[in-house]
Amino acid sequence: MREVKKHLISSGFSFFRRTGLHRLAAPFTRGTGAILMFHQVRPWIERDFAPNRFLEITPEFLDAVLTRLTARGFTIVSLDAALNGMGKGRERPFAVLTFDDGYKDTRDFALPILEKHRAPFTMYVTTGFADRTARLWWIELEEAIRRLPRIEIEIGGAKLALPSATTAEKSTAFAEIYRRLTEMPEQTLLDVTGRLAASAGIEPATLVEELCLDWTGIETMVRNDLCTIGVHTLTHPRLAKLGEAAMRRELAGSRRRIEAQIGRPATHLAYPLGNRAVAGEREFKATADLGFASAVTTRPGMIFPAHAAHRTALPRVSINGNWQSLDFVEILLSGLPFALWNKGRRVA
Ligand SMILES: [Zn+2]
Repeated sequence: MREVKKHLISSGFSFFRRTGLHRLAAPFTRGTGAILMFHQVRPWIERDFAPNRFLEITPEFLDAVLTRLTARGFTIVSLDAALNGMGKGRERPFAVLTFDDGYKDTRDFALPILEKHRAPFTMYVTTGFADRTARLWWIELEEAIRRLPRIEIEIGGAKLALPSATTAEKSTAFAEIYRRLTEMPEQTLLDVTGRLAASAGIEPATLVEELCLDWTGIETMVRNDLCTIGVHTLTHPRLAKLGEAAMRRELAGSRRRIEAQIGRPATHLAYPLGNRAVAGEREFKATADLGFASAVTTRPGMIFPAHAAHRTALPRVSINGNWQSLDFVEILLSGLPFALWNKGRRVA
């Protein structure tokens, strides 16, 4: 399935590149701008098995994307500036840059490039990563499968035995386990990945320590005038899997914690994972009730004036590490692929 999707994307991509159709369509499909989504930014690590690769790009690619954005007429603005003008049309489209989770590499590799471009950005912080209490379960899963030659686990009563010696076997095992975990309650997901990590000799807290900023690191970011700190929950759960009270605690509690730490308001939120299955009407309403000024999903799309009435359900454009091509980014930011995928629907 993944391969089919990849094939469709790359054939669509070469069609646009050949015809230049996206440039003709852009004035109609681009909307007022886009909120770009980044995760890790770090030097390339050569790896055959890298199932989370779509979540990372190189610093050189980030630099090139920012140059291309400006060359194509985008103005890079802060999230607040974009929200202020959202209901109106604009002469130049805006681009908002957002970085999820609070990684050390946002500070170490992305920040120097953002400073070079004088580009404002938002970093969404999961307080449990800064506190070293939440878990990067998708990275635990990757690391465990990388180390283990064979996987034996139980997921929700089903026993699973998967070979995991070759790259192909590891990729299949990752996809299969990931798929099954998405159907499980949050605690089951954490238990299963925790057991697998333990059997591979991986300490979950060590991964968080290695990859995520602590509060001192976050305070360094806060002092930078380009940075807006946003909220990304307490434990990075799939919110739709939680009861109403727990879901609201994740939203309100993390905001309170961040505001107390950084000494300024944090009014913007990103839903963890953020797709249709984990962030829906209930979450959009809760975020609005709690007084957040905006909330972003990972649903793909451009921003249109109509989004002014849906500020807690904003789409983003993922800068995907599997497609580190400037032409690809330019095609995405024409808005044409989203107009086709969303069948012309602008607001989800
Ligand atoms: Zn996240």
